[in-house]
Amino acid sequence: MDTVAGSCNACGATGVAIMKLSLGKDFFGRTYDRLSPSTDQSPKWYCEGCSMQKNLQRDFRDISAEIDKLVAGQTSQLSNSDEFQRAALRLREIVALLDAVQNRSLLLSISEVNRLLERLNTITIPV
Ligand SMILES: [Zn+2]
Repeated sequence: MDTVAGSCNACGATGVAIMKLSLGKDFFGRTYDRLSPSTDQSPKWYCEGCSMQKNLQRDFRDISAEIDKLVAGQTSQLSNSDEFQRAALRLREIVALLDAVQNRSLLLSISEVNRLLERLNTITIPV
């Protein structure tokens, strides 16, 4: 893993190890294209705590986008009940992980995730 001297793009921490975050695949196993503006603007550097939260934010965004599609009646990964359950579990996990983070960044707030969970709970999908 590459490390450079600099500051974390999320919390601004300096003098700590930071790494260029490679996100690889998205939550639904699709290849993650860091150059596509809808998912992320540019490669960035994050310290360890923010890297973890950035990954949570990515999953949150993926799930959020699929919920939007589902609600709009479009083809969505969440039309599949297994994926739907997995997404619901992941959101609960994200809340728990964020709750345990000490140096919380501004990338993602627990209330945002809770709102998405509430939205998910109002949706029923054909099994
Ligand atoms: Zn940071």
